[in-house]
Amino acid sequence: MKTLIASISGVRGIVGEGLNPEVVLKYSFAFGNYCQSKRVVLGRDCRASGEMLWFACVSGLLASGCEVIDIGICPTPTVEIAVEKMKAQGGIVITASHNPIEWNGLKFIGKDGMFLNELELKKLFKLTEKIFDYKPGHKWGKIYFEDGWIQRHIDLILKLKYIDKVKIKRRKLKAVIDCNNGAGSIIAPMLLERLGCKTVKLNCTFTGKFSHPPEPVPENLRQLCREVKRQKADLGFALDPDGDRLAIVSEKGLPIGEEYTLALATKFVLSKKLGNVAVNVSTSRVMDDIANEYKVKLYRTKVGEAFVSRGIRRVKGIIGGEGNGGVILPEAHYGRDGLLGMALILGYLAESNCPISQLATKLNRYFIVKRAIKLKGNFENRLKRLLEIHKDQKIDKIDGVKFNFKDFWVHIRKSNTEPIVRIIAEAQSGKKALELTDQMIKFFSRG
Ligand code: MG
Repeated sequence: MKTLIASISGVRGIVGEGLNPEVVLKYSFAFGNYCQSKRVVLGRDCRASGEMLWFACVSGLLASGCEVIDIGICPTPTVEIAVEKMKAQGGIVITASHNPIEWNGLKFIGKDGMFLNELELKKLFKLTEKIFDYKPGHKWGKIYFEDGWIQRHIDLILKLKYIDKVKIKRRKLKAVIDCNNGAGSIIAPMLLERLGCKTVKLNCTFTGKFSHPPEPVPENLRQLCREVKRQKADLGFALDPDGDRLAIVSEKGLPIGEEYTLALATKFVLSKKLGNVAVNVSTSRVMDDIANEYKVKLYRTKVGEAFVSRGIRRVKGIIGGEGNGGVILPEAHYGRDGLLGMALILGYLAESNCPISQLATKLNRYFIVKRAIKLKGNFENRLKRLLEIHKDQKIDKIDGVKFNFKDFWVHIRKSNTEPIVRIIAEAQSGKKALELTDQMIKFFSRG
């Protein structure tokens, strides 16, 4: 199947199937026009297909007359920061984020440093349908290469008042960082060293290949868990291929669960400053507990960085993000940032004088199970039936359908980035959460 998924996260496809240089050329040319042939920042992750697609992307942008500032292989948040700081009209990241290695894609950033929203993407996708006339004498664009944005990204994080560098250095923390050979491979160890951590690098080489499946979920972090124990480290960090999602492994060599990345970061920030919080609809209930503890408001948004960033801005939030390990701190910028997440966690750890496992156990424990089924033709009918059955429950329709029961919830949503339906359940035991997703999968597989 030649699938190219165009969604709130940009466009993604399997390279050689739905995604190829022609497709990238078409989208980057349209994006250049969307940006009125002005300045566009370009970055990419480290997939082997990235270099080939980069040429197509540059070509499309130059053909549209843009001034392209290439900042090389770097995390998505670095590009977001560069767009804002350089007062560019937009940015493109060549990445398929957490999708498997055979995928690639484009993320589109607007001049405010945030992902394009639904309306803006609609406008962009419309522009791809237009056939542009190249004429002799057309004003072609120019490309410039700029180093140093990784350092600037680190400087921006270290300037934040939440990050007490002296305290962190004093604790002499030892951290293992697993970048899965992704875009964080240089910046993440560099940040840890700047914070005075003894740093052990794991899979921090741009080989073009991943060492394990790219989603930073517990089953993919076994190597990191082993290394944390072997090194007797204080903690382990894992980033997804484009560095916007962060997972943590405790000093015991156990994954804390990616939902707890944002929870710990939020607790730390709220302990310093009170303010609103915004998270997506399928983020753990632990966030409600933290908001209640500090008596601040928690807002829920649709799933996807474009929605959460704007949600945070709308409610003048001081922190927020997505439960998949995506921390957003508006004081730095409005994008999910795994590096920023690392610095906040280290800040929290340095101030608390206890191991990371203890910080995690202080939070209410929920168990979240995230599964996916192939999208089938009868999906909408089955969903209608489910809504009838549970019509007396509290139902959230912010994004897909979320059934809120007293002690658990179930969220059913079509994926933005793959032809699948995501089924997420959270309960007070792993067994219950698994049971709930089992029931749903059975329900949706009936004709
Ligand atoms: Mg990502």
